[in-house]
Amino acid sequence: MGTTTTQVLEVAVLPGDGIGKEVMASCLEILRVAEAVSGGPSLECKKYDAGAQYYAQSGDALPAATLKACRQSDAILFGAMGWPDIRHADGTEIIPQLDLRMELGLYAGVRPIRWFPGLPQVLSDPRAKEIDFVLVREQTEGLFYARGRGRLDGDSEAYDTMQITRAGTQRVTAFALELARQRREQGKGHRVTCVDKANVFASMAFFRKVFDEEVAKHPAAIADHAYVDAMALTMVKKPWTLDVLVTENMFGDILSDLAAGLIGGMGMAPSGDIGDKHGLFQPAHGTAPDIAGQGKANPCAMLLSGVMMLDWLAIKTGEPQLATRARIIETAIEKVLSSGQAVPMEYGGTAGTDDVTKAVADAIPAVMRQVA
Ligand code: ATP
Repeated sequence: MGTTTTQVLEVAVLPGDGIGKEVMASCLEILRVAEAVSGGPSLECKKYDAGAQYYAQSGDALPAATLKACRQSDAILFGAMGWPDIRHADGTEIIPQLDLRMELGLYAGVRPIRWFPGLPQVLSDPRAKEIDFVLVREQTEGLFYARGRGRLDGDSEAYDTMQITRAGTQRVTAFALELARQRREQGKGHRVTCVDKANVFASMAFFRKVFDEEVAKHPAAIADHAYVDAMALTMVKKPWTLDVLVTENMFGDILSDLAAGLIGGMGMAPSGDIGDKHGLFQPAHGTAPDIAGQGKANPCAMLLSGVMMLDWLAIKTGEPQLATRARIIETAIEKVLSSGQAVPMEYGGTAGTDDVTKAVADAIPAVMRQVA
C-alpha cells in the first residue's frame, strides 16, 4: 500500500440500453456531487460498451474488453440491458447481465426493500410503513441453469432442468446469515427465511436440507422456512414481518418484482450482485422501452444501487468515509421524496429524471452538514 492521501478506486460503468443510460447519467452526477463535498477515496468511473444496442452495431453483447475491465475494477455499476427488437438468432433476448453473473461468480443477488416517507403506500395497513427486508436470490444456478441448455423434443415436449448444488446453496446461505448478523448489529430484524418448494421437488428439499445444515453452524442465527407460494401471500398480507429471505434463482426473480411493488414500483428497488471477489450494482428494473428516451425514468433505484456500492466498497477497502458518503446520498434521496420536492412521474408526479437528479444534488450540501 502506498502513502498517498487520496485513494483512487476504479469503477467500471456499463450504462447499457434504454433507461439504463438515463439513470446511469443521474447516478454518476450524484456520485460526483457527493464526492466533491465528502472526504475519502475518489472514484474513477469509466464507461464501457455492452448491451443489446451495442450488439446490434457490433455483433457482440459483452465485448472481451468490457469483461476484462469488470474483472480488474474495484466495483461495477450497471444500468440495464436488453431491447425487445434486438435478439439472438434463436429468438432469445440479449441479457449480458446473466453472463456477467456467471463469469464473475456473482452468486448473491441482494435486493433490499424498505419503505420510507415519500414513497407510495401501496398497502393500506399502517404497518406497511415498517417494511424493511432483504431478498437474497441465488443467481448462478437454480432454474436459470437451464438457460441455453433447454431441450425440445420435436414440437411436442420441452424440458428445462433446475440445478441445486451443495456448494452453491452453502455459499448463498452463508451470505444471508452474515447479512442477518449485520442487521442484528444495526438493531434490525434478523430472522433468515429459506424460501423453497421442498414439499414437491427433490431439488428444493435438498436446498432446504443444506440451508438447515449451514444454519446449524451458527448457533446465534434465527431461521425458518416458507414455501414460495405462501411467501407470495405473506409479502402482500404482512411484509413487515420479513427480515432476510434466501431463495433459488427463478423464485427470487419473481419475488423481487413483487417486493418492489410493495414500495411503489421498480424505480425504487436497488440491487447488488455480490460474489467473493466482485460486486456489481444495478437497479432491479429493466430498460423500460415504454418510457425510454423521454426523460421520465425514476433514477432512485439506480442512485440507491450507487449507495449500496459505496457501502460495499467501504467494507472492502476499510474506508469508512465511503459509508458516510453513502449515508449522505441516501439521506438526500429520503429528504427529496419525503418533502415532496420532486415527486417522480412513476408515482404520478411531474418530476422527470433530471428534476429528481437536480433535487437530490441540491439537497446534498445541507445533508452533508448533518450526517458528516
Ligand atoms: P426486464 O425483463 O429486463 O426486467 P421488464 O420489461 O420486465 O424488464 P422493466 O423494464 O423493469 O421490466 O419495466 C417494467 C415496468 O416498470 C415498465 O412499465 C416500466 O416503464 C416501469 N419502470 C421500470 N423502471 C422504471 C423507472 N426507473 N422509472 C419509472 N418506471 C419504471
